Amino acid sequence: MIAPHPSALSDRYDLCVIGSGPAGMIAAIEFARNNPSRHVLLTEFGGHKEAARNSLDDSIHNLNPANHHDPYECTNKGLGGSSITWGGRCVMYDEVDFIERPVVRDHCTWDTALFEEVCRYREDSAAYFECGTGPFRTTDMPHLREHRIADGFREGDVLDSVVERWSMPTRFGSRYRREIENTPNLTLGLNLEARDIHSDAHGRVTSIEFRHAPSGTTVPVRAASFVIAAGTQETTRILLRNTRIFDTIGGPPAALGRYYQGHVSGKIASVRFSGVPRATDHGFHRDPDGSYFRRRFQLRTEALCRENLLNTAIWLDNPLYHEPAHRNGAMSLMYLAMVTPVLGKRLAPPAIANSVTKGRVHRVPAHILNVIRDIPSSIVIPATTFFWRYCLKRKLPGIFLHNPQNRYALHFHAEQLPDPDNRMRLADDGETLEIHYRLTDGDVQSVIRVHEILDAWLRECGCGELEYWFPENQRADAIRRMSRDGIHQSGTTRIAASPESGVVDRNLRVWGTENLHVCSSSVFPTSSQANPTFFLGMFAIRLARHLASSPQEPAVPGAP
Ligand SMILES: Cc1cc2nc3c(=O)[nH]c(=O)nc-3n(C[C@H](O)[C@H](O)[C@H](O)COP(=O)(O)OP(=O)(O)OC[C@H]3O[C@@H](n4cnc5c(N)ncnc54)[C@H](O)[C@@H]3O)c2cc1C
Repeated sequence: MIAPHPSALSDRYDLCVIGSGPAGMIAAIEFARNNPSRHVLLTEFGGHKEAARNSLDDSIHNLNPANHHDPYECTNKGLGGSSITWGGRCVMYDEVDFIERPVVRDHCTWDTALFEEVCRYREDSAAYFECGTGPFRTTDMPHLREHRIADGFREGDVLDSVVERWSMPTRFGSRYRREIENTPNLTLGLNLEARDIHSDAHGRVTSIEFRHAPSGTTVPVRAASFVIAAGTQETTRILLRNTRIFDTIGGPPAALGRYYQGHVSGKIASVRFSGVPRATDHGFHRDPDGSYFRRRFQLRTEALCRENLLNTAIWLDNPLYHEPAHRNGAMSLMYLAMVTPVLGKRLAPPAIANSVTKGRVHRVPAHILNVIRDIPSSIVIPATTFFWRYCLKRKLPGIFLHNPQNRYALHFHAEQLPDPDNRMRLADDGETLEIHYRLTDGDVQSVIRVHEILDAWLRECGCGELEYWFPENQRADAIRRMSRDGIHQSGTTRIAASPESGVVDRNLRVWGTENLHVCSSSVFPTSSQANPTFFLGMFAIRLARHLASSPQEPAVPGAP
């Protein structure tokens, strides 16, 4: 049910979840579905729809706009959270992300036993994300087991059998709103901003105060358990603002707000395969249920550990859209559409549009010439793509064009070093969240070395080679200039075995408290090559079941 006004809220709940993005929504729905006699309150700062401006994003100070997107491009506020604009790429973390490796300098504060445990929730998470029930490796798919990404490729240090999957993309607000309305033991409270956390001397959180902006009132909510699922930056800000809850352990954990990570991402090379162009597996596959998946290159765990490298995925991509030298009319028309005011904004959210346009209106006459020269395919390809991408429920996740020369740009997406100086902190006013984010030499050098290993492996297989876009001495600078994140946020409330090295325990309970949990990718100590949301969904399901099995004080009788 949806509470029409804060006055309709109950005295006390079994569970209060803060934030209605994928993490909060999955945790709340999963708990409510499995515990019909227990009452859940799901609270959301925004309303049914996202407002043009909001006080949270307006009070973020991003100190590195070159490598970190502006606040409004990083998250969305409203029912469904950032799934309002997310791309829907669903990727699994890898075992290597849970192994203590010299490259991450003692900062891998979770372990492979936890990975194995969380993996049990993969299929349940896939159901919430609607990304298909199929496996994440072609080795588990009989029809693709013997197929390779390109003629002559074989697996060794480099793998081509890992796949990424795609959600519809599921917009959690519109997708699950009806279920929330029809679930008697689940109440949604909108326009409620979690502010002050009150706890007793034993670390039991007794209530959390919410600000209801439309009425200007403050509402205390009492619950047996609380889950903060407000996204990485807001979860971190709530904890930074409420450090009194850590008095039981002598003060806030040193890791709170630190080790902020995203992904290093961009393109510095193309691959030219030497075999039959039509044999190159550059595009999407579909499962019988219609869900999309696609191959990527990754390094084997042993190779990453031997070379002391950060986990990295590399996928085949189109050449840079904004450079008309690609001479592809369809790409030029799509680029022109994206840089057209109003239309461009409707086609993709700013962070994704930026990856296509690079924020530049560049050589328009040359693009127009490409379009004219390539007619009719410069019209037919964008028209059919538009239909598949915008007019169907399950949307075509991206556009990857076949290249008759068998040459593809390579898009890297790499883990970042957990660096204590990459951090979120409260400014002196106690409200503004400062974001300190930089790329380290370790981040950049790892990307370069992974490309070298891929190149060497392709040559050894006799199936192709890399063609770099920058001379060797300019590659590091190029990566530093092109990489921009802030949409995959993790690390600032990391899991660890003690408050000396982390902020939450392996069950996501905040150290120093008895009944306060965090469900956000902020708990991930390492950022993997993987986009975080699908894996976070697995943690959300695990947390909901863990809370259901924990002994709890019953909610006050008379709850709705
Ligand atoms: C353009 C874009 C593309 C993306 N593409 C992908 C992708 O392809 N794959 C992928 O894995 N990830 C992707 N992401 C990242 C993905 O959207 C996030 O990882 C995911 O939404 C995080 O879920 P969450 O529930 O933790 O937080 P959010 O989705 O950010 O939701 C948090 C919610 O909490 C609310 N909230 C905040 N503060 C408070 C408060 N004080 N009180 C109450 N409520 C509060 C917010 O309003 C928000 O609704 C993308 C993100 C963007 C912006």
